[in-house]
Amino acid sequence: MLTILPAVLLLHPLCSLAADDAPQRQTITAMGGIPINISAWGIDQPSFKAAVTDITVRIETLEAMISTYRPASAVSRLNSGEILSAPPAELGYLVYMSTTISQSTDGAFDITVKPLVQLWRSCRISQALPTEAERLAALDLVDYRYVLLGADGQISFTRAGVMLDFGGIAKGYFADEAIAILKLAGAKRCLVDCGGDITSWQADSEQGRAFRVGIRDPQGGENIFAILDIPAGAVVTSGDYERFYEIGGEKYCHIFDPRTGQPVQNMLSVTLLAPTGIEADAYATAVFVMGAETGRQYVEDHAGLEAVIISRDADDQLEVFVSSGLIGSIEFSAVD
Ligand code: AMP
Ligand code: MG
Repeated sequence: MLTILPAVLLLHPLCSLAADDAPQRQTITAMGGIPINISAWGIDQPSFKAAVTDITVRIETLEAMISTYRPASAVSRLNSGEILSAPPAELGYLVYMSTTISQSTDGAFDITVKPLVQLWRSCRISQALPTEAERLAALDLVDYRYVLLGADGQISFTRAGVMLDFGGIAKGYFADEAIAILKLAGAKRCLVDCGGDITSWQADSEQGRAFRVGIRDPQGGENIFAILDIPAGAVVTSGDYERFYEIGGEKYCHIFDPRTGQPVQNMLSVTLLAPTGIEADAYATAVFVMGAETGRQYVEDHAGLEAVIISRDADDQLEVFVSSGLIGSIEFSAVD
């Protein structure tokens, strides 16, 4: 069973807003049913509606480019061994950002995880765990250094069998693209919640106002674990409860450690704040793979990143880490 729940919830805005400051809001669905909630302030209704139409078209175009469910997509063609000599610029950008973040995270984030994703999908169907040989065969193909992005934009692999999966970065990128469209349309302040991956922006004239978001309790369905007040920027959660592979009654995480080929264990969720959605999405996945200790150090060492990390320690006790930049802007609900 693959279950999807948004991990970050948008709550009512922090500041009391005048009636004429009510946002325009609309929800669209994309990527096979994921809701995208769009809110914008300081924009008239016709301009907002036109922007929402542009966002719908933009996300559909990007999805058609990266979906591995569509055999004709640029990524499916790459994955089947084709060299893309003139790929869309957006794909080059995604590959560039992904491999840059792989380098910075020592390979914890790696878009070449696709063979592992495929292996576990087939295990879910057969209801049998992968054998050691199957794991090692898939793992052998996982290494972001097999991906070449040429100065002329060409994308190719240095090894046959390498396959890409943008599942760990795409939603954050889509949210950034939606924000860019709303800015161009004249919004003074806007927020896009792309299936729980939130990106926001506000004009300099609006500085000082905050967006209020809730972090879902990774143990408790619909409950809110904590509330965060954030200035503009992105907040994305990677969680083990969001999506998982259920095999023989056990749940296995959908995020893999690219160094071992194993589903990550003992991590419940990583909520990561970064300037943009694409960064927040990729770093949330990366910090989830790093684990609580390395992950906290990484966040504290990197300016512009903040995180709430919920994990289990060796005694199976819940551990919550809040990075230093968030202290004062987070409020916990009653937690057991
Ligand atoms: P997220 O929910 O953003 O953490 O992304 C999880 C998705 O990213 C998975 O469903 C896979 O498609 C993909 N993925 C799994 N492990 C990794 C990894 N170590 N690096 C990059 N993407 C991954
Ligand atoms: Mg991610």
